[in-house]
Amino acid sequence: MSSNYTKTILITGGAGFLGSHLTKKLLNEGSKVICLDNLETGSLDNIKSFKENSNFSFINKDVTSKIDIKDDVHEIYNLACPASPISYQKNPVKTNKTSVLGILNLLDFALAKDAKIFHASTSEVYGNPTMHPQKESYWGNVNPIGPRACYDEGKRCAETFCFDYRRQYNSKIKVVRIFNTYGPNMQANDGRVVSNFIVQALNNEPITIYGTGSQTRSFCYVDDLINAFTGMMSSRDDFYGPVNIGNPVEFTMLELAELVLSITNSSSQLVFNPLPQDDPEQRRPDISLAKSEFNWEPQVSLEEGLIKTIDYFKKHLR
Ligand code: NAD
Ligand code: UDP
Repeated sequence: MSSNYTKTILITGGAGFLGSHLTKKLLNEGSKVICLDNLETGSLDNIKSFKENSNFSFINKDVTSKIDIKDDVHEIYNLACPASPISYQKNPVKTNKTSVLGILNLLDFALAKDAKIFHASTSEVYGNPTMHPQKESYWGNVNPIGPRACYDEGKRCAETFCFDYRRQYNSKIKVVRIFNTYGPNMQANDGRVVSNFIVQALNNEPITIYGTGSQTRSFCYVDDLINAFTGMMSSRDDFYGPVNIGNPVEFTMLELAELVLSITNSSSQLVFNPLPQDDPEQRRPDISLAKSEFNWEPQVSLEEGLIKTIDYFKKHLR
């Protein structure tokens, strides 16, 4: 029977920020996309533009229960997990289960379907890093019992399962470690720094700097990151990762605040709130592995990306 799509791809967390951008790209490339999401931090708004597309379907389901989809599935992107510290600390036990039980269910499902499985890990596996910039060979500095551990350790354990499934069952895994990413479709109340500062600046409300604002992050625009996702998925069969993906240009939170204030022309003042426990002081990816394996590096500067994201929030907040 002929079909109007080239392959079937399951995206867990497809109604979230990154998942919705990935869905759009894969549908545009001619794939059939099954989006599975429990809508914990995602939104139907993010996927409403795909509803009319016959190659798109949505399943409201939790990855912590067994995945049972009848269709052939050729590729899986596992993005299901709250990503903002505020969201993942609301129900830490559930966050850890989402990472650990979620990847187990999906690795089993991938084996049953003989599908390739991409797992969204995180720069948080490096914790508060003592090596700078961070290379994939660095084992990290994570507090295993702190408030961020439900996320960091859940993601570390999920990576372990991926690599053990590969060694034990020959699973076709692709593991990426994502550094801070921003762009349209982030929730206004998501709690991450870029959306917070933009929403505060547009509303002329105080910009909340945690700590002194001298801590650093490296911010990647979402379009660049999604190109890395598909680049990794189509990389050579015997390349499993983990591979860092993110923008290697580093900024302090004070620099980010100044940039947002100047682009929005806002009259917001800076206020200084306490630094959350275990907040990493410095973070920047070494992306030489992604460059050499699938010829990827980000193209969008922070200023260009912020302009696009600010435009999105201007329309969205109205
Ligand atoms: P997001 O919160 O916008 O999206 C996560 C999606 O997963 C949401 O739609 C949510 O409803 C869904 N979800 C959560 N728990 C679930 C469960 N138990 N079952 C089914 N669905 C569930 O976050 P995002 O920024 O799009 O992040 C996507 C993935 O990328 C996450 O795994 C995150 O850890 C990882 N990541 C993101 C970043 C970033 O900067 N955006 C950085 C590092 C890692
Ligand atoms: N941050 C801040 N103000 C905010 C939100 C976050 O200063 O309103 C800081 C936070 O303490 C951290 C950095 O910005 O140092 C990035 O925070 P985010 O929650 O976006 O991501 P993560 O800490 O997971 O990198």
